[in-house]
Amino acid sequence: MNAPVPIGTPTATAQPPLVEADSGAPLLRVRDLRVRYRTGRRSFEAVAGIDLTVRAGQTVGLVGESGCGKSTVARAIARLEPGISGELTFDGQNVAALRGRALRPYRQRVGMVFQDPIASLNPRRRIRDIIATPLRLAGHDDSTATAARVAELADLVGLHPTQLDRRPHELSGGQCQRVSIARALARVPDLLLCDEVVSALDVSIQAQVINLLMDIREQQGLAMVFISHDLAVVRQLADRVAVMYLGVLCEDAPVDELYERPAHPYTRALLASVPGERAAKDDAGLLTGDLPSPLTPPSGCRFRTRCPIADELCAQETPAPVELRPGHRVACHFPLTGRDD
Ligand code: ADP
Ligand code: MG
Repeated sequence: MNAPVPIGTPTATAQPPLVEADSGAPLLRVRDLRVRYRTGRRSFEAVAGIDLTVRAGQTVGLVGESGCGKSTVARAIARLEPGISGELTFDGQNVAALRGRALRPYRQRVGMVFQDPIASLNPRRRIRDIIATPLRLAGHDDSTATAARVAELADLVGLHPTQLDRRPHELSGGQCQRVSIARALARVPDLLLCDEVVSALDVSIQAQVINLLMDIREQQGLAMVFISHDLAVVRQLADRVAVMYLGVLCEDAPVDELYERPAHPYTRALLASVPGERAAKDDAGLLTGDLPSPLTPPSGCRFRTRCPIADELCAQETPAPVELRPGHRVACHFPLTGRDD
């Protein structure tokens, strides 16, 4: 299923916007990714078999409620989680099996920015040292060249040179997030993993950081995995969006396709709470009830306990993802179609 179409292969049914969103060589390929955590004597799958493809220069948004496993996916891709299984291929290389020193070249090509801007920076160090850390770890000990690179990175993310001598608590949240971005870019990654990077910032500052990320992406040809529980933010900068629920994907599609024609009841429920989205105006209804515990996921479709249209089949069988339209996959026994009006 979902066999990648070789680049340049003509497809008779191709719809231009969908093909455009999916063109370019796969940079990251994730297949059946699973992450197991232990709590006390029990273990459970926080990520229970996820497929994702990120193409060079592409931004893939990953959305879903808090606790569904988004951060775990990012940490697994960054190889920060020990208990993973499945396929993780980066630029054609299997990176799931790399250990210790062999991981270094991969880590260099993947940058990561986290949610809490101040807590993710060492409070005792000056900003210039924080940004230089990845360069030192990579063995750049020429201090003149390192200082020049730090100045260049500061300029790229819009930090004033005088701010380089400050410490994290002397900067605002937005400025600290610029520092985190500069640090993540220090070794010129091909892929940037952004985990809720604007969620802790004021709305006006969010827009600045999003614009900065979009400029940098353009300039450097970066691919991104952009994680957020805020669907309005994701719509601004993603090319594709994948929707996660309780450790699995329910739907993924090019961004406009997903927001205009959501097919999974969960996607529709999420969109119903976003002001201005068309799903908010129709019958989708708001999401009720809590996310079930990943220790005891519902049988069959994991969303069925909160789904307005679930029936017995949903409790018995796990829906396999099907391709509704080119590039638009949905894992639901009763996907909502024909929403072209
Ligand atoms: P999200 O980022 O979507 O909010 P997370 O990936 O942080 O979700 O968490 C997914 C699930 O895994 C949650 O149930 C969370 O409580 C659990 N979890 C996260 N990290 C750990 C850990 N280190 N040990 C045990 N459980 C964890
Ligand atoms: Mg998270």
